[in-house]
Amino acid sequence: MAIKIFIDQGHNPTNFHNSGATGFGLREEDITYQVGVYLAEMLNQDPRFEARLSRPSPSTVLGSTNATSLAQRVAMANQWPANYFISIHANFNENPSINGTEIYIYRQYTQANWLAEQVIDGIVETVGTKNNGIYARPSLYVLRRTKMPSILVELAYLSNYADAEKLRNDQYLFAEGIFRGIMRYFGFS
Ligand SMILES: [Zn+2]
Repeated sequence: MAIKIFIDQGHNPTNFHNSGATGFGLREEDITYQVGVYLAEMLNQDPRFEARLSRPSPSTVLGSTNATSLAQRVAMANQWPANYFISIHANFNENPSINGTEIYIYRQYTQANWLAEQVIDGIVETVGTKNNGIYARPSLYVLRRTKMPSILVELAYLSNYADAEKLRNDQYLFAEGIFRGIMRYFGFS
């Protein structure tokens, strides 16, 4: 039986509810969409995995409000049911010097924590972002309500010039970094 991984591309298309952050002409929802597509392709090429996307097409809109957009993503994963949940986002800060990759989990010392450690190392090694570490964020809906180990990956900062260049040019590498981390978590490489 394949390991079922639900990939949640954070946010909805531009001009809908639950659209994402912007920086240097980039839109979070476009980046998360494409990184998710690349990651699903990598996983689905390996018979040990089966991946599904929350937004299989660029025009997919989830829910009718911010809250129902998040609820629909969680319901899709719980009903499948997925074995793991990976939500992809890009970060933003008013301070343009803040940069790097971070991952949020529901709580520490869990399967999600071990997966997050491998994924953040995979991204940092592959893309060259700064490792900002792993944080417990039990208030985040998609972490709180998913019934499987779940992580929320903040790839890099849209508000930092060097990170934004990576988010613009290295979307395939971000997916590859997450993929490498997943492989290592399972001891497949
Ligand atoms: Zn986001």
